[in-house]
Amino acid sequence: MTEVHIEGLSKAFDGRPVLSEFNLDIAGGSVMAILGPSGSGKTTLLRLLCGFERAQAGTIQIGGRTVSAPGLHMPPEQRRIGYVAQEGALFPHLSVADNIVFGLPRTQRRAHYRVAELLELVGLPAAYAGRPPQHLSGGEQQRVALARALALTPSVVLLDEPFSSLDAALRNETRQTVAHALKAAGATAVLVTHDQAEALSMGDQVAVLWDGKLAQVATPQALYRVPATRELARFVGEAVIQDSLVAGQTAVCTLGTLPLTVPTAQGPADVMIRPEQIHLAVSSSHAGSIQARVESITFLGADASVQLVLLASGEHIIARVDGQAAPMPGAHVWVWVSGKVIAYPRQAGGQIVVSKAPLLSIVSSA
Ligand code: ADP
Ligand code: MG
Repeated sequence: MTEVHIEGLSKAFDGRPVLSEFNLDIAGGSVMAILGPSGSGKTTLLRLLCGFERAQAGTIQIGGRTVSAPGLHMPPEQRRIGYVAQEGALFPHLSVADNIVFGLPRTQRRAHYRVAELLELVGLPAAYAGRPPQHLSGGEQQRVALARALALTPSVVLLDEPFSSLDAALRNETRQTVAHALKAAGATAVLVTHDQAEALSMGDQVAVLWDGKLAQVATPQALYRVPATRELARFVGEAVIQDSLVAGQTAVCTLGTLPLTVPTAQGPADVMIRPEQIHLAVSSSHAGSIQARVESITFLGADASVQLVLLASGEHIIARVDGQAAPMPGAHVWVWVSGKVIAYPRQAGGQIVVSKAPLLSIVSSA
């Protein structure tokens, strides 16, 4: 069932539009990741949901109640929303337990109502209850902030780039704990981020905010495999984009005749290949492979990004390979593509028609 319904939402600051006619539905008990570049209006959207900002147009319904509409603005404290900010914003003079119960009625505050249960839910030891927040790591503080948000049994929990101040190792671990806690609590959550890996790994659905509008809403798999536009393809991951000609169910390009994920208008198109679909070998043993020269390598740890020039055409491409198997700069290799690809027709903007039903079947048949 839909828990959050946003329709025609528009917001401008000093006449400069930030959100225009924004629509989104969020299913109860699910995590909606909203992915957008810095300055795209993500925090503004959360502040509109909370009631800290007023919209110029549109409606917001939360849990079946209209909280914002023309002539109606429900105050923030009546909206039953939990908020986790970029940095925990815990009160330094209160213990962890007192932080968690902060928003509750007095009798529940005194009784440290559900503190043990909430600490367990966010994966923290019960012994943390009496500590000051400064004695906790950044990741632990964010988990306390989530416990405080969940203590209110909110209709929806909003998380505004909650992991951005954590270092890489802590960020991954905290993401997993938070995702687990949200599921265990059955919470409906909106997580905004500019980090595509975070959106893809945390969202049941990912909505991309682009130029104040919703560019695409899809499962993480569908968004990555079938982005609606070339720009989205580049935004949600690395993309190799090449000239091609769509013929039947294939795109013909320098790298071969590649099968298409979705039916595409015949004729000239840009084909989009993910770098991990491009494979390298030292010989021509793979049928249809073509020659390339390694220009440079970016070592990333588990894997490496290999910048290549195709010898026949001079085109530049990128391959993502196992970090242990990366060739040396200057090496001559043979390359080929595996799996299906997407093509964007050149005419009429070249947007792929993304309909929800076929996308689901594409992902499940993968
Ligand atoms: P994000 O969270 O995606 O980085 P924001 O929602 O914070 O983006 O901001 C979107 C745009 O709106 C930015 O250009 C920002 O400068 C502007 N903006 C946000 N809040 C205000 C405000 N209170 N007054 C004027 N401009 C604002
Ligand atoms: Mg922001």
